[in-house]
Amino acid sequence: MPAFQKQNLTSKQFGYWTVIRENRDHHQQVQKRSRHPVTSFWVCKCICGKIKPAVRGSVLLDGRSQSCGCQRKHTLKRQAEKNQDFC
Ligand SMILES: [Zn+2]
Repeated sequence: MPAFQKQNLTSKQFGYWTVIRENRDHHQQVQKRSRHPVTSFWVCKCICGKIKPAVRGSVLLDGRSQSCGCQRKHTLKRQAEKNQDFC
């Protein structure tokens, strides 16, 4: 089966994301511009409350997107604190 097979990700969790629903409109828009089959897009809500209206399903499934970016910010902050301790 192709990697972009239709999957229902609604209410699944990927890292900090919770999938709210599929974004079919966005998928259709992207699909119109592409000659290749496009994976589905999903409306996701981060634990910090931020909503991203179109996250690619493939990116969620392979773990490349796990938050709106706040997760990365926390990591950077932790590193900065660590550096200060070191000095
Ligand atoms: Zn977030």
